Amino acid sequence: MFDCVLPTRNARNGQLFTSRGRLSIRNARFRDDPLPPDPDCPCSTCRSTSRAYLRHLHLAGEMSAATLMSVHNLFFYVTP
Ligand SMILES: [Zn+2]
Repeated sequence: MFDCVLPTRNARNGQLFTSRGRLSIRNARFRDDPLPPDPDCPCSTCRSTSRAYLRHLHLAGEMSAATLMSVHNLFFYVTP
């Protein structure tokens, strides 16, 4: 993973890697979704935020969306 931009670049563009496949947070079906990005993931983002909240932050242009999703994507890739 050294120096690989994939987890953070995709997070900035609203794409999350989950145990059930890729998930684009921009998708309208997540507008009222109370589930965490990946229900099987113990990372801090998945323990504290919903898909709906991440989608809201992302579409509002909030940098915290990229930060939160980067945490999840990095956790996903680094955890065996
Ligand atoms: Zn997570």
